[in-house]
Amino acid sequence: MKLPVDIKDFAYITSRKLPNEQGEKSGAVFMWRRKGEEEFNYKLKCPHCGEEQESSVVFKKRPYRVKCSNCDKSIMVEKLGKK
Ligand SMILES: [Zn+2]
Repeated sequence: MKLPVDIKDFAYITSRKLPNEQGEKSGAVFMWRRKGEEEFNYKLKCPHCGEEQESSVVFKKRPYRVKCSNCDKSIMVEKLGKK
């Protein structure tokens, strides 16, 4: 997946593969938050159903979870280590 804008504008950014229930990395998520904004934007390929989607969400607390709009499964997005 491609970066939508210049990386210096981000307060948070992560890109990672997502395992399904069998532990196969069949999905992926790319998530970012711009500086000064509360909302996280994400692109997701659901590891469970393969549906690709794009949305935004405000997280209240960790761990961050997004929900697939197709199969309704909750997907945890773990934070990457400090860059
Ligand atoms: Zn799904």
